[in-house]
Amino acid sequence: MQQTLRTFVTVEGTGLHSGALIAMTLRPAPAGHGIVFLRTDVTDRDNRVPALWNRVVDTRLCTVVGNEAGVSVGTVEHLMAALRGCGVDNLLIEIDGPEVPVMDGSSLPFVRLIEQAGVIAQAAPRRVIRILETVVVEQDGKRASLSPSEVGLFGGEIVFDHPQIGAQSYSTPLVNGNFIHELASARTFGFLHEVEYLQAQGLALGGSLDNAIVLDAERVVNPDGLRHPDEFIRHKLLDAVGDLYLAGAPILGAYEGSRAGHALNNALLHALFAAPQAWEYVLIGNASGDAFLPVPGVAEIPDALPA
Ligand SMILES: [Zn+2]
Repeated sequence: MQQTLRTFVTVEGTGLHSGALIAMTLRPAPAGHGIVFLRTDVTDRDNRVPALWNRVVDTRLCTVVGNEAGVSVGTVEHLMAALRGCGVDNLLIEIDGPEVPVMDGSSLPFVRLIEQAGVIAQAAPRRVIRILETVVVEQDGKRASLSPSEVGLFGGEIVFDHPQIGAQSYSTPLVNGNFIHELASARTFGFLHEVEYLQAQGLALGGSLDNAIVLDAERVVNPDGLRHPDEFIRHKLLDAVGDLYLAGAPILGAYEGSRAGHALNNALLHALFAAPQAWEYVLIGNASGDAFLPVPGVAEIPDALPA
């Protein structure tokens, strides 16, 4: 069945790129509504922005969705990943600024927020996208693909010429709370010279060691180090979970990303929807038997981050 939150829940946090303090309220929404942002600070034009692949207007630093009135919401991917990982289909997200608060740079604060509100089943079957044929996009040595699979599966690899990253690969099926346990806590990352450059351009103004892994030429600058030795690839897969949830429905298929990012993930959805023979909608009527989209229980939310 489709799911939404049991009640509304509010959070405040810094916008990564604007540096502004932003309040966000997640409100339950009816079956068939989907995930929709509402910019409450914009009152002179259309302030609704559906969280959909064909509304993506920028992917350079994060994934930004916008509407025809030019109203946009940035940094949606970590929240979208939490919604996918927790099986939330319908939500109205009120937000009083141009981007989702970055929180700690991962999805875990959003998972905890969803769990705080609680998830309830709705009286309508869930529509999922089943992959029937492999779809591939490639650009500049980067690659992303979706292939048929009996479960939602996310895998990938990255290669960075940095002693703390190097080559990392990871793969996990989205079953049994794996998103929450294995991906949700992985933080975004950046290099010190890039952060300094971005901030000189008036970007990443909210960026700090509290909301990103920062690397200098040799090491991780954050005093507490990493949450996982392979936190970097885990975060890339978290991003992919969020970016692909902009399909408007969970995807039943295997994602594989090689050095992929937000732009390629969005290109993959464009390629998928341009190939009608490569997928079909399937209705799933039983939330408890829905093995690839677990409902998180309280016990599944770790009180502390993984060591
Ligand atoms: Zn990210």
